[in-house]
Amino acid sequence: MGDDRGSEILSRLRADRRRDRCVTHVERVPARAGTAVDWPEWADPLLLGRLRSAGVTAPWSHQAAAAGAAFAGRSVVLATGTASGKSLGYLLPVLTTLLADPSARALYLAPTKALAHDQLRAVRSLALTAVRAASYDGDTPAGEREWVRAHATFVLTNPDMLHRGILPGHRRFGPFLRGLRYVVIDECHGYRGVFGAHVAQVLRRLRRVCARYGSDPVFVLASATVADPGVAAARLTGLDVDVVDEDGSPRGATDFVLYEPPLFLTAGRRQPDAAAGGRLAAAGPGPGGAGRLTGAGKLAGVAGVAGVAGAVGMAGVAGVAGRGASVGGDHPTRAGAGGGVATAAEGTEGDDGPGAGENGAPVRRSATAESADLLADLVADGVRTLVFVRSRRAAEVVANSARRALGLVAPELGERVAAYRAGYLAEERRDLEARLRSGDLLGVAATSALELGVDISGLDATVIAGYPGTLASLRQQAGRAGRSGQGALAVLVARDDPLDTYLVHHPEAVFGRPVEATVFDPDNPYVLGPQLECAAAELPITESDLELFGAASRPVLDDLVRRGRLRRRPAGWYWTQRGRPDVDIRGVGGPPVRIVESGTGRLLGTVDAATSHSTVHPGAVYLHQGVSFVVEELDLEESVAFVVHAAPDWTTTARDHTDIRIVGQTRARVVDRDLAVYFGTVEVTSQVVGYQRRLITTGEVLGDVPLDLPPRHLRTRGVWYVVSDRLLEDAGVEPADVPGAVHAAEHAAIGLLPLFATCDRWDIGGVSTALHPDTEQTTVFVYDGHPGGAGFAERGYGRFGTWLTATRDAVSACECPAGCPSCVQSPKCGNGNEPLDKAAAVRLLTTILGRLDGP
Ligand SMILES: [Zn+2]
Ligand SMILES: [Zn+2]
Repeated sequence: MGDDRGSEILSRLRADRRRDRCVTHVERVPARAGTAVDWPEWADPLLLGRLRSAGVTAPWSHQAAAAGAAFAGRSVVLATGTASGKSLGYLLPVLTTLLADPSARALYLAPTKALAHDQLRAVRSLALTAVRAASYDGDTPAGEREWVRAHATFVLTNPDMLHRGILPGHRRFGPFLRGLRYVVIDECHGYRGVFGAHVAQVLRRLRRVCARYGSDPVFVLASATVADPGVAAARLTGLDVDVVDEDGSPRGATDFVLYEPPLFLTAGRRQPDAAAGGRLAAAGPGPGGAGRLTGAGKLAGVAGVAGVAGAVGMAGVAGVAGRGASVGGDHPTRAGAGGGVATAAEGTEGDDGPGAGENGAPVRRSATAESADLLADLVADGVRTLVFVRSRRAAEVVANSARRALGLVAPELGERVAAYRAGYLAEERRDLEARLRSGDLLGVAATSALELGVDISGLDATVIAGYPGTLASLRQQAGRAGRSGQGALAVLVARDDPLDTYLVHHPEAVFGRPVEATVFDPDNPYVLGPQLECAAAELPITESDLELFGAASRPVLDDLVRRGRLRRRPAGWYWTQRGRPDVDIRGVGGPPVRIVESGTGRLLGTVDAATSHSTVHPGAVYLHQGVSFVVEELDLEESVAFVVHAAPDWTTTARDHTDIRIVGQTRARVVDRDLAVYFGTVEVTSQVVGYQRRLITTGEVLGDVPLDLPPRHLRTRGVWYVVSDRLLEDAGVEPADVPGAVHAAEHAAIGLLPLFATCDRWDIGGVSTALHPDTEQTTVFVYDGHPGGAGFAERGYGRFGTWLTATRDAVSACECPAGCPSCVQSPKCGNGNEPLDKAAAVRLLTTILGRLDGP
């Protein structure tokens, strides 16, 4: 036991030979002793007494350092590991101040309601009656809100509520804002991309409104370990911040396992029982069937993991592959445009990849199915285990499969496994959290809703089903396990995705490199414009405010005046419209499309406007909690899709046509006359032109149905490289193979970019073409999937050589013969993953890299 707990669990798992073969690397992360220091002299004695009786005898060095800076009035970011007790770093100064000064106020922001509620419980458990702490979010009853505004001294909320509720209603919050001394921003690394840019501007609005009420709060930020936390915190708040990133807390040893599920070399479409892809194969005999799935022979088969979602993508699609034609519009659509509408049921979260090799390619057993097995086996062994999955649907699937498997051998254990995800009612969530803390639940399958700091301890193992997108997240999730001082096990299970494949074969990329930087761009005009409207609606914007909102704000304000959104008066810029601006800080362009059941009017869910054409077009099969619906009508004007309950025996896959135009170059790197790399503004035009129906059972194509949907335009930032015919010749890529080579290289590059920027493949898109009209040469584009850009493509330009090296290595490392979802196939290809030429892509990338190194 003790420090070897992780090794001990691992050796039991590896006793199963099939499991053992899946382990590609074990990293032993050593234990670390803690550095305790004295309590700061200024800390309130009553508070210290309560902390001591709660078992906190002394602070760790990083807690004291951050608390000291904040109490001295300096904004600070505390960037240390999971479970390092970051909350004490801000609670010490905040609670001490609230206890000492009845007029003082503090605001706490968490990215999720669940985390804010958890913090509220922690604060209330200290029983400091002089601190009136309350949450203020969408769950707060109207009657209570008034009490919070009038009486609470410590308000716990989220950026959405700050943006929609508190700032627009600042007059009602006057006394609170007047007394505001601290703003705590927890889990601040979560504010990235376009969401990060919005939150950065929301915080500037807060600072401006506070200044109007005469307050100038200190910001205390808590972050996971990310690269340059001080830079990200300063960008987020617009302030200079101190950085505390030396972790003084103790840590048990962790056995960290990289794990790759087996590859099936089945000819999927020819075998009815395997036709639904790797996932359904878990249901029965045959490859991946019952006998092979059981760990140590304890459990008899895990059935029916995520069947239908894997059923798409068997047969070839006629590619528009001719030289000169754009091939491969790969859209940053979260719901998986080309990945089949079955995966679209989620709407907001990337699912588990296509689960089936397209065009008869081999498939890897899905990370979801494999993780469900691991969960069942670990729970059967009495190991308290948390499985992190990427989608709500996968959380349900993993929990159900593990329960079912356990039910066969130990029904009482099945009861102790549950799913935890966003979308549950607040009471359900709290109940699950309590059961998890108490140990009543032995196994939980969770989305990242649980990653975000909810306080749970006493776990022995974490299983991470698919790389969560960033090293910061990976470490955060792995760090969930480990009872005080004891060792723990963490397992990263690879998805069939090029990035995951790369990582499980390159441990140095997981353990030997710094975490990525949190990337966002507060100057994105598509964020700044709506945010300045919100600001003007709160209080007119004056000349002196422009410094706060940044240099980019003046041209944006001029534009808003030109468009009649704001009016320029001598005293400043005024909001002229009736009502308030309607800005969704988490949205990606336009209001979401509601999915409504015809007849009953029941709201089933929503999908992003950007993905709606490909996921809820007329005729699309839409899955909601395992029940299938068919879309009758997509009303674009009202942003609503009407569906009827139906269970056709086919799935649907949207097909689209994409064009990309270069608007302007911002940066260029001309390597030689055969190769150049650019970063700049692009305009992407895509149109869903039809969809394909395929039989669930065999993957057989039933036919194409044309659609008449308008094109969608996206002006954003992109990185692109241009290669000459001579370079292609050097690489041994025949003219006829160019479209397949660049398309494959583009897919893999999209898959690997998240290694360098805090994004995932669903945030970025790509287009590859053998002859682009703007460059008149072979060109591969990768672009940010958000209007105005989000910083990802820019990062790709900055790290071009490293990025392409990783891309080439991932593709060449995959042992499949001619391309599979683990290397060059993409779950979101709008072109049916046709054409793809894996070998030519490797030759092309290698030749490009040779030129970059250059003689
Ligand atoms: Zn594609
Ligand atoms: Zn492959």
